[in-house]
Amino acid sequence: MARDYYEILGVSKGADKTEIKKAYRKVAMKYHPDRNPDDKAAEEKFKEAAEAYEVLSDENKRARYDRYGHAGVSGNGGAGGFGGGGMNMEDIFSQFGDIFGDGGSPFESFFGGRSSRGRSAGQKGSNIRIKMALTLEEIQSGVSKKVKLNKQETCSTCNGSGAKDSTSVKTCTTCDGGGYVRQIKNTFLGQMQTTTACPSCNGSGQQVTAICGKCKGEGRQLNKSEVEIEIPAGVQEGMQLSLRGKGNAGKMGGQTGDLLVVVEEKPHESFSRDGQNVIYDLFLNFADAALGTKVEVPTLGGVVKIKIPAGTPAGKIFRLKGKGLPSVQAYGVGDQLINVNIWTPKELNKEEKVMMEKMREMENFQPKVGVGEKGFFERMKDYFGN
Ligand SMILES: [Zn+2]
Ligand SMILES: [Zn+2]
Repeated sequence: MARDYYEILGVSKGADKTEIKKAYRKVAMKYHPDRNPDDKAAEEKFKEAAEAYEVLSDENKRARYDRYGHAGVSGNGGAGGFGGGGMNMEDIFSQFGDIFGDGGSPFESFFGGRSSRGRSAGQKGSNIRIKMALTLEEIQSGVSKKVKLNKQETCSTCNGSGAKDSTSVKTCTTCDGGGYVRQIKNTFLGQMQTTTACPSCNGSGQQVTAICGKCKGEGRQLNKSEVEIEIPAGVQEGMQLSLRGKGNAGKMGGQTGDLLVVVEEKPHESFSRDGQNVIYDLFLNFADAALGTKVEVPTLGGVVKIKIPAGTPAGKIFRLKGKGLPSVQAYGVGDQLINVNIWTPKELNKEEKVMMEKMREMENFQPKVGVGEKGFFERMKDYFGN
């Protein structure tokens, strides 16, 4: 009778994903074959832990296991399901690589360049980095864009194996298909046994005797392909979105790289951006500012009409709540700020000059500094304060 998976990892039934991962890492390190060479009992424990992790780290499998016990997850455990003979070492190590991440494994030599079973010789494809210029309107709503890219894609003829056909793939004779070899090394600590990727097959466990004619054995080809990219609302200049597995295909079926999209903001003819707010400069003629009026103002969502009260000074900021931008990281939407400017004509005709000369002398037109007028710093405080 198989042991309880929770017991194997030493976690409670209510353990969350992080705890399970941590516990597995601990057990796997303890019983790892590199640390316990030729210790059958340790190897069994190592496999057992991997099996327990495989189930408990997968929500569906875990739910089935919680309900039906081992019967719920063996035999029909889905694609690559185990049960019966249990997991093989190759599966375990590929799972292991996922957990420790690239370079994070203490057994790096072992996992270097591995991805998944049967394709582990593959070399990971490189990331593709592109820039994407967006308008503020697109940033406000979020947008889906199609881009054409030259990228490496898995060869359709050999399906990434690099082999001519199925008969031109043989089990590697050096490692017997295991993908790794053990070596005794002399170190200052004495003799140590290490495990490294098989040099003959680069860890795949397989050797190709005849290569695919289409991709010349690389398992991938350069294609012009169209990729659809979903840009979430509220992105900002310089932000980088990474689309996993949308980059270049790896060599010989290796993992596909990522597509990195760097956001650029197109300058807008009417607005500038300040975080989630958009700023609009409104120019009023002096009479409108003094008498009050109604004006039409553009927003990212179309034109709106706003009322300008009589006696509106230059530098007054009106706020249109919620007419700004959303944020990718936070809730809420910014505002549109309308910054009032007074339009001053560059030249005046004779009639205008006469009128202005009259105004110049009027008592009510003399500036009264500090009386009910907010200076620049107060206005800034108003702006940032709410
Ligand atoms: Zn091919
Ligand atoms: Zn080999």
